[in-house]
Amino acid sequence: MTSTSAVPSALAPYGWDADWADTFAPYAADGLLPGRVVRVDRGQCDVVTADGVIRADTAFVTPHDPLRVVCTGDWVAVDPAGTPRYVRAYLPRRTAFVRSTSSKRSDGQILAANVDHAVIAVSLAVELDLGRVERFLALAWESGAAPVVVLTKADLVPEPATLAHLVHDVETSAPGVPVLTVSAHDGDGLDVLTAVLGTGTSVLLGQSGAGKSTLANALKGEDVLTVQAARDVDGKGRHTTTTRNLLALPGGGVLIDTPGLRGVGLYDADTGVAQVFSEIEELAEGCRFHDCAHEAEPGCAVLAALDSGDLPARRLDSYRKLKRENQWIVAKTDARVRAELRRDWKRKGAEGRAAVEAKRKGWR
Ligand code: GDP
Ligand code: ZN
Repeated sequence: MTSTSAVPSALAPYGWDADWADTFAPYAADGLLPGRVVRVDRGQCDVVTADGVIRADTAFVTPHDPLRVVCTGDWVAVDPAGTPRYVRAYLPRRTAFVRSTSSKRSDGQILAANVDHAVIAVSLAVELDLGRVERFLALAWESGAAPVVVLTKADLVPEPATLAHLVHDVETSAPGVPVLTVSAHDGDGLDVLTAVLGTGTSVLLGQSGAGKSTLANALKGEDVLTVQAARDVDGKGRHTTTTRNLLALPGGGVLIDTPGLRGVGLYDADTGVAQVFSEIEELAEGCRFHDCAHEAEPGCAVLAALDSGDLPARRLDSYRKLKRENQWIVAKTDARVRAELRRDWKRKGAEGRAAVEAKRKGWR
């Protein structure tokens, strides 16, 4: 891939690459500054640029559509000289996490953009809930990010055979997804996770108590204060503890750690659900009827696999449950918003996924 402008090395730790530089070229020609959004707060955002963290006004970027507002992880073009300084545009997103809001019409709310790895933290301290893991997987795939399941607190499962068994259970529920075990307690597995997250941008998903904060702290190491300190160049407020953060990790890669993301729900995740249950989707191709519902149809390959024991009943139940849940969300989602979603990043998501997949093949 050729690049029309040099990659500013100061932004490389934040994920800037030749492709972003190419996309940014027309804005650079206009004298605008590239930067990545670290946090967003009521019409303002902090943007990390080659000159440090600056504060910019987001009002210029289509504020009325909840999916078109600037969010953490966006690459933006900032007018460096303006008063106020405006974000003039954000670059097309490679991936995006969207939350369905609790309002009656289920408009999405954009939570994070350009995420490559969705780390799904699952605690080994409690009984595995595979249905919950599948739900997070659907969400991750739907965003365009590649999921990684991390079984945390591995020190609480000292018996290797038991641990292997648990990993296997998760693997069968997560086709094509790496499953790692870590213990923040004794440091086991953190090196592998650090390597996996060493390129690209990651987010941590998972239930409360799954060990996300502990994991985030272990990954951040001593560099946790870098961004907070850096943004003081602007001399603006310091309310960073409970707001959205984007950090360059000491081991490479970027971590987006926002409270909102941690509680994210399914949002129009049909593609994501299909990906989590790829073996069922594959079986369905062998059904006699194209529109087989796998309920009682003759020649149903899914039910045949269920009968033969190849497909666990739990998997099929979970698949049906998530499908139903998703259809309900879609039904109450505004059609225009859905069309936007597809146009904006579904295609990009697929491209990003292919790139991440290629990378993953490299490290596996
Ligand atoms: P979060 O809600 O997902 O952010 O979870 P936390 O990171 O707050 O962790 C929840 C609890 O699990 C805390 O009491 C942690 O001390 C504990 N915990 C986290 N990681 C480990 C680990 O590797 N081993 C053990 N034994 N406990 C852990
Ligand atoms: Zn069928």
